[in-house]
Amino acid sequence: MLMQFPGEKPEYAEPVPGVLSAEISLKKGKTYSVVTASLTAADGRKTRGEARVKNDKLTDKIMTDRLLQRCVKLSFYKAATELTGNIPVWGALTGIRPGKFVTNMLLEGHTEQYAVNAMMRENFVSLERAKLCLDTAKAGIAAKNALKPLDICLYVGIPFCPTRCAYCSFVSNSVEKTMKLVEPFLDTLEKEIEHDAAMVKELGLRIVSVYMGGGTPTTLSAMQLEKLLTKIEQEFDLSAVCEYTVEAGRPDTITPQKLEVLKAHGITRISVNPQTMQDSVLNVIGRKHSAKDIADAIEMSRAANIPAINMDLIAGLPSDTYEGFCASLDRTLQFGAENVTVHTLSLKKGTKITLEGTSIPDGETVGKMLDYAEQKLRSEGYTPYYLYRQKYMSGGFENVGWCKPGYDSFYNICIMEELCSILSLGGGGSTKLVAPEKGKIERIFNPKYPQEYISGLDKIFEKKQYIREFYNSEISEDL
Ligand code: SF4
Repeated sequence: MLMQFPGEKPEYAEPVPGVLSAEISLKKGKTYSVVTASLTAADGRKTRGEARVKNDKLTDKIMTDRLLQRCVKLSFYKAATELTGNIPVWGALTGIRPGKFVTNMLLEGHTEQYAVNAMMRENFVSLERAKLCLDTAKAGIAAKNALKPLDICLYVGIPFCPTRCAYCSFVSNSVEKTMKLVEPFLDTLEKEIEHDAAMVKELGLRIVSVYMGGGTPTTLSAMQLEKLLTKIEQEFDLSAVCEYTVEAGRPDTITPQKLEVLKAHGITRISVNPQTMQDSVLNVIGRKHSAKDIADAIEMSRAANIPAINMDLIAGLPSDTYEGFCASLDRTLQFGAENVTVHTLSLKKGTKITLEGTSIPDGETVGKMLDYAEQKLRSEGYTPYYLYRQKYMSGGFENVGWCKPGYDSFYNICIMEELCSILSLGGGGSTKLVAPEKGKIERIFNPKYPQEYISGLDKIFEKKQYIREFYNSEISEDL
């Protein structure tokens, strides 16, 4: 909720004149409990917001905490929007997966119109964002219906990149500095593949989608990719896989030989990520390639007949402008990518941008960039199929995956909607165990740094023992 007041940090103290302060009070009446938020701005202006809940809904401690917390959030939101005059597009909604609200409503049997209206009425979400949620919820429900109880996705993390981007908070290791770790990393990964494949077999799990991410897996040589992909298909049964993605985010890592290897191993989708098609911006964000390199990489990928290409763009990059972003999107669409993912810059701690305090486009400009993207993508026949929000996003916006009809990425939907378990191998991934019917989710993290991964394999195996326990107690084939 403090998004309305960028830079403010909460302090729980008596109000001080000349300092922004908030007072929250709860009054329990006969029928309703009423929460009131009173805000006082530094210049003395005061606003109030109120939210209430019926007492008979406060059935136990969990429900009481949940509903009263919601009242606090809503009352604060009302007072804050009046004070700042700033109406966020996501209204009072917080959290990574705003679309879940609509998904749940549709699954409960409500109509699409009702779900959209409820999202706007109860959370003050804008019509455009509510409609985005509706589209992604429909894609999520279709994916959910296609899954069986023992279906899982496989994730393989390759935590190496040619160089590190200025906005990257991932622990990806620049290969220039860690070249000597690549082979030991791959040897360790082969052992983890053997271990996990035996467990998948024993538990009767069915792999429906594979995603190799990172980092940038195509940082590996064509021979290393060939060996790794061969090992994966020798150990795991991939006969039910409907989608096999390899991230090839950095065009400077793509070669015809590597694409040939990917094609030969049945890769159905690659991600070639411009982030921007402006050379000056690419330079500022530390990508050691040009827009022309992206065009060349796409041409090579088309020549290799990879069925689907995703291209990522970021709205709000340092030194980018509204015009620059629109030109990047227009240029990207000329490549006819099956998927276009439009991210909003997220200012995570530890990134070069945050550390150096680099100036970035303001929230209003980022909002205009995203509006342009939505209008342009829809007019070109793309629909949104997954969306998520992150902390510290410029303007509090979102990331949206857009696709041409029939090209929604199954893995992306599964992970975002938490529809099935994701078994993760390699560096930086987290295994997510999902029991959808029970609403239960557990995570097991693999080490992020290659060195820790190489030396910590026994510990990973120990932690992964829990997967057996989880499947034996939480998931039944007959659900
Ligand atoms: S390509 Fe991705 S993972 Fe690699 S440094 Fe850039 S942002 Fe980070």
